Amino acid sequence: MIRKLFKKVFSRKTPVPDSVAQLRVIPFKKHGVRRDQIDKCALKITSTLHQAGYTAYVVGGASRDLLLGLNPKDYDVATNATPEQIRALFRRSRIIGRRFRLVHVMCGAAVIEVSTFRGPSTTQEEEKRSSKFIDQHGRLLRDNVFGNEEDDALRRDFTINALFYDPASEEIKDYLNGYDDIKEKRLRIIGDPNLRYREDPVRMLRAVRLAAKLELQIDPETAKPIGDLAPLLQNVPSSRLFDEMLKLLLSGHALSCVIDLRARGLHHGLLPMLDIILEQPLGERFITLALKSTDQRIRHNKPVSPGFLFAALLWHEVLSAWKTHQTKGEKPLPALYQAIDETLSIQHKQLAIPRRFDAVIQEIWAMQPRFEARVGRKPFRLLSHPRFRAAYDFMLLRCESGELDMELAQWWKKFQDADHNHREKMLVNPNTSKKRRRSRKRQTTNETSVLSKNTTQESH
Ligand code: ATP
Ligand code: MG
Repeated sequence: MIRKLFKKVFSRKTPVPDSVAQLRVIPFKKHGVRRDQIDKCALKITSTLHQAGYTAYVVGGASRDLLLGLNPKDYDVATNATPEQIRALFRRSRIIGRRFRLVHVMCGAAVIEVSTFRGPSTTQEEEKRSSKFIDQHGRLLRDNVFGNEEDDALRRDFTINALFYDPASEEIKDYLNGYDDIKEKRLRIIGDPNLRYREDPVRMLRAVRLAAKLELQIDPETAKPIGDLAPLLQNVPSSRLFDEMLKLLLSGHALSCVIDLRARGLHHGLLPMLDIILEQPLGERFITLALKSTDQRIRHNKPVSPGFLFAALLWHEVLSAWKTHQTKGEKPLPALYQAIDETLSIQHKQLAIPRRFDAVIQEIWAMQPRFEARVGRKPFRLLSHPRFRAAYDFMLLRCESGELDMELAQWWKKFQDADHNHREKMLVNPNTSKKRRRSRKRQTTNETSVLSKNTTQESH
């Protein structure tokens, strides 16, 4: 009897802490994701690996998105084969990565990332302490140790990203209760949030992006340390921050992400002036309109130019610097060029926007005053500029946000639609321009809000 009681007490399962993995296998009849929903290339890769005697799963965002009923953006495969073993199986493949070596397998135009299960080695704690592997804030500098399936689940960021879909059996292996979190629409970090954000502060940005994109609630424990640890983003290489910021802005949920970034104090190291811009009604309206229209374009599968986006996010900084230079007595154009240079150089120090975007951003900004010159050949020259479309869309945002008169947007819309003769007639005669501008202003004050409130950026 006593022995029975002892057995009962000591064999009772204690609640599993978040960081301890416990395998649950979710059968097809419960999760409902069919093999034929998986991308053909990913299927081919997992089955080739299986035939060669390795285990292989569809992991990360792809299995998560399929469970959420979404179309995965890209596919990742995880396996127990080493990079060399993977490489030997696929003719069109190459080993990449320094921090962690993995294999890119080319399949048609697509590239599938195939990685060997990763995990901490027994000596890793010791090595970490010797600070070869972490910086003084706890950020992981190297994590290139192979592990088993379970280790691989544990080193991932959020529980919903740690599900292993096996296309052969159509089963999902779930070590960290990610399946329940998906069903309950909860974003939960794996392990101790403090430690995991210190290891990689970019996880804080990923939390914001994934929560907005997938409409998940960030678990309170996962959200709690973010405010305090936000400054750690300063230690992340700026090229990585840029990549993550771009993902966030192109997620189709840029507006809610930016609002959430600001609410959690995460924006300081990314877009340092955002606070100031959003506090001014015009600035807030401008950024809101720009991000809303970007989100709409992405949801309709239309292309979006990152240059346009950054030009929009930074425009009100340019405007205020432009004003400052003019009040110091500089002429409008040199003052604008000065403001452009200053804004870009301040921004480069925070979040290195790659130089390849600078040209687009500068052109969009520098073309803005040209929309207001409607005399002689100037509008014709502007219309034939290769960057006209982007600059025009930008000018529409300025009008819609209340920075410029809507009459300007109306004029340019008409000018584009008109034939050559009609365009000539629309030009403002320099002699009568002042008179006409005054009378047009009177005429159009009541019409200004009528023109399409829904004007969006078209193809850039
Ligand atoms: P997306 O829809 O943007 O592709 P994703 O979750 O697939 O989302 P990826 O950057 O493709 O994002 O990463 C693939 C997987 O790698 C993630 O699902 C996660 O398991 C793991 N991962 C990515 N970034 C991190 C990180 N910073 N820390 C730990 N694990 C990560
Ligand atoms: Mg992915």
